[in-house]
Amino acid sequence: MDAVLYTHPHADHLNGIDDLRAFCYVKQGAVVLYGNAFTMDNITSRFGYALQPPSKVWDKPVLLPEVVDGPFEHDGLSITPIPLQHGSWPCLGWRIGNAAWLTDLSHIPDESLALLQGLDVLFLDCLNMDGYPSHLGFHQSLEWAARIGARRTVLIHMIHRLEYHALSALCPPGVEVGYDGLRVQL
Ligand SMILES: [Zn+2]
Ligand SMILES: [Zn+2]
Repeated sequence: MDAVLYTHPHADHLNGIDDLRAFCYVKQGAVVLYGNAFTMDNITSRFGYALQPPSKVWDKPVLLPEVVDGPFEHDGLSITPIPLQHGSWPCLGWRIGNAAWLTDLSHIPDESLALLQGLDVLFLDCLNMDGYPSHLGFHQSLEWAARIGARRTVLIHMIHRLEYHALSALCPPGVEVGYDGLRVQL
């Protein structure tokens, strides 16, 4: 692991950042972070100590933030950021090949929908059953899944009240419920 794609700076996505220290220590090198300017500004103000040159003992993460606003290459891999709205925050999804990861969103702009054609696998926000101002509820998730038309849509980021088997029974063909430890062949 030598790079991290950040979607946005909410604690449930960002506060594991200190654990990147172990990867820096093992490789004795920096880890690159990719994200939008909003997220990188937040990381810089909250975790500035992790953006410094390494000490002799690598006792802190050594991270290299990179703001991206369009497709880029990392280590020969083409990666496309997908701008999303997450309540009032500008958030990113990510597309690599024919897979896309769209967590934490309340709206997908038309220009971003255009970046989501021809997907084999779509991971999609589905917070709860009834909706929430900054997330998709189950029925909204199904509507976006149908609009995007991926061959396979995996629902993610559910609250604990959504039970796996009960929710699975409500999913139409092509939509499934993600779970911890799920592995997907791409
Ligand atoms: Zn969030
Ligand atoms: Zn979240």
